[in-house]
Amino acid sequence: MLTVNEIFHSIQGESTRAGDPCVFVRLTACDLRCTWCDTPYAFHEGRKMSIDEVVKAVDDYGCPLVEITGGEPLLQDEVYPLMSRLLEGGHTVMLETGGHRPIDRVPAAVIKVVDVKCPGSGESDKNHWANLDALAPHDEVKFVIADRADYEFARDVMATRLSGPHGAILFSPVHGMLDPKTLSEWVLADRLPVRVQLQIHKIIWTPETRGV
Ligand code: SF4
Repeated sequence: MLTVNEIFHSIQGESTRAGDPCVFVRLTACDLRCTWCDTPYAFHEGRKMSIDEVVKAVDDYGCPLVEITGGEPLLQDEVYPLMSRLLEGGHTVMLETGGHRPIDRVPAAVIKVVDVKCPGSGESDKNHWANLDALAPHDEVKFVIADRADYEFARDVMATRLSGPHGAILFSPVHGMLDPKTLSEWVLADRLPVRVQLQIHKIIWTPETRGV
């Protein structure tokens, strides 16, 4: 059984798929406590569901794109057969992970969005650096950036640790903490080949709205 916080149909708010309709499967529990975490309700709240029940709930939305998120979805071992089942059902499957758990058991066809935690998160000592050598060309790397120190950390990680295959590098300002314009100006000044992204679900709805 999986412990599921929520399953909902919304607009993908981040990554290169931003704007696409997507079904989100949010799994319960996380072993990090990022200072700016916007889903603390997923730490403990949830209900038990079988893989069959989760797949049916996803299929009922009739949406080809599915994202497994959390919390930290890789804490639950049944997430692996769940991803395989969704792929077998013809879905495009994305996985959003905090980057501190190994990604080597994730099915190759899954599009992984792997966080690198910056110092402002309070969890940068938990990064599992080997993940950056296990990325496929379709995988994306996300830095959530709270301030200039985080930006410089992310820029250094790009220069020193991201030499293998990977897809887009996402720079995401912490909502309400770092002005997106400031981050954009830093990126432009340094000619960084990254994608500045806003969490568009927080713009379409409100930052507090759940289930979107
Ligand atoms: S890894 Fe994600 S869910 Fe866990 S504390 Fe950090 S932001 Fe929140």
